[in-house]
Amino acid sequence: MMMSLTLQGSADEEKKTMDKSSVSPVVKSVRCGNCKELGHPRTHSGCPYYYRQSEVERRQAKASENLKRRVERAKENEDALELLTRSEQILKDRKQTMLAQIRAEAEKVEEEFNDQIRQLNQVVKRREKRKKKTT
Ligand SMILES: [Zn+2]
Repeated sequence: MMMSLTLQGSADEEKKTMDKSSVSPVVKSVRCGNCKELGHPRTHSGCPYYYRQSEVERRQAKASENLKRRVERAKENEDALELLTRSEQILKDRKQTMLAQIRAEAEKVEEEFNDQIRQLNQVVKRREKRKKKTT
């Protein structure tokens, strides 16, 4: 009986020292904005004032504020996506227009080129006819 009590006691002590060493010096120097104690922030659930009505309300207000901000950000992203989609469509339309213009220009150049070749061929034929006549 004595033995187990001693063991129990030493185990508790060991646990305490372990907990102390696992707390970083930064957290140790933190002063709670709620209960003004050193060693934990006001968001720590171990704070004696954590479940006070005012603190619970404060957390709820903060949570709903965060939710509101997230909804706003989601809406902004949606708007940005819509704008991007519209810009993409405009670019696609522009690309189609430019391709059509380029094709039309290429056809025009080809026609002009073919016309010039036809005319040159006619000139050559006429000269050949003239040559035959003179010889
Ligand atoms: Zn506190």
